[in-house]
Amino acid sequence: MPYEKSRELFIQARQYMPGGVNSPVRAFKAVGRDPLFIARGEGALIFDEDGNEYIDYVGSWGPLILGHRHPEIIAALRTCLEIGTSFGAPTRLEIELARAIVEALPGVEMVRLVNSGTEATMSALRLARAYTGRNKIVKFEGCYHGHADFLLIKAGSGATTLGVPSSPGVPPNAAADTIVVPYNNLNALESIFTRHGHEIAAVIVEPVAGNMGVVPPVKGFLEGLREITQHYGALLIFDEVITGFRLSYGGAQELYKIDPDLTCLGKIIGGGLPVGAYGGKKHIMEKVAPEGPVYQAGTLSGNPLAVSAGLATLKVLKRPGTYEELERKSALLYQGMAEAAREAGLTLSFNRVGSMLCIFFTETPVVDYTTACTADTRRFAAFFQSMLEQGIYLAPSQFEAVFVSLAHTDEQIQKTVEAARKAFAAIK
Ligand code: PLP
Repeated sequence: MPYEKSRELFIQARQYMPGGVNSPVRAFKAVGRDPLFIARGEGALIFDEDGNEYIDYVGSWGPLILGHRHPEIIAALRTCLEIGTSFGAPTRLEIELARAIVEALPGVEMVRLVNSGTEATMSALRLARAYTGRNKIVKFEGCYHGHADFLLIKAGSGATTLGVPSSPGVPPNAAADTIVVPYNNLNALESIFTRHGHEIAAVIVEPVAGNMGVVPPVKGFLEGLREITQHYGALLIFDEVITGFRLSYGGAQELYKIDPDLTCLGKIIGGGLPVGAYGGKKHIMEKVAPEGPVYQAGTLSGNPLAVSAGLATLKVLKRPGTYEELERKSALLYQGMAEAAREAGLTLSFNRVGSMLCIFFTETPVVDYTTACTADTRRFAAFFQSMLEQGIYLAPSQFEAVFVSLAHTDEQIQKTVEAARKAFAAIK
């Protein structure tokens, strides 16, 4: 396939933007090749600047659960353009989206719209700290909650540790109150709470981890989080930026029947436009300004275009049978890929929850960050490259999810499985 135009554009892009991109993973560094420049999308397909066509399993990193240019989203955006693009004042649309979120998510009684997932988690943790009057927070190794200083923390040495900054520019002070614990490890969490229980404001978790590849919670893990946090008076925050409206209409909290105190959202609720949200129990959310003293604001928060696209998405998702159909398509892809790997004589570790999938290039079952890191990233890069050359666009990193959308047809899934069969055979 020709990639000339993408190559030329990448040279230009690097002159004006660090690494030629506006978010690091887009640069394809982890798979050792130049990125593609995307010209347009339609349904489950994207087209690059050279005119190559791909079946897209990135879906803009999760938001596009209906695929590209869904007609109802386009219609909603057109209607909105007739009204205006931003007012910085309350609108009816915001009530509609807030109501839809509150009605969908069992743990959310009130919600505040923001502009990104990063803003959502940052603001939810400020609120949790203010509400509890405590400073420390707990996050899990391998979970990503956006790029706020105090969340950009990796585990130090030792199983349950105070964190260390994972980027230059994050001051050690910002890491001092972030405790990092292995995912799916309740014993580690218990021991942290035994030592620091009354200083911990909140535990934040991806209920299904989607940023170290896909790692489902082991049986009892989420229930354990609920119990421990409740016992010590800390808040439980579900970061459902990926899982919200993806794993079910009520998110992971509905799927696993857990009632978190606060929930962070993003991606799908903006239908492909920039958005985020944090919400939760009324008595906690009422502490947010101007109702309460916890400050948080945003020039474009509740932006009519983003809200319109989000509302249109939720309207489609709410229809009967949607999640059953998404599950059917995802199972088809999963079974096909797993069989293709077996046929090629490869023992790989596959994880899937609903429309979030991951093929780990390791024989070790992946249950946390340590086991995820046993994956052979060079073999993944070879697989990625082969899939790309066959017109399948996967996330350019071993540690990202494959997202299935409602726009993927059975035929496209079949084509993907065929491509995987060839790719597995080639890297054997
Ligand atoms: N939380 C989770 C679970 C995410 O996956 C992401 C981004 O991928 C974020 C938070 C941050 O969201 P954003 O990139 O919109 O700031």
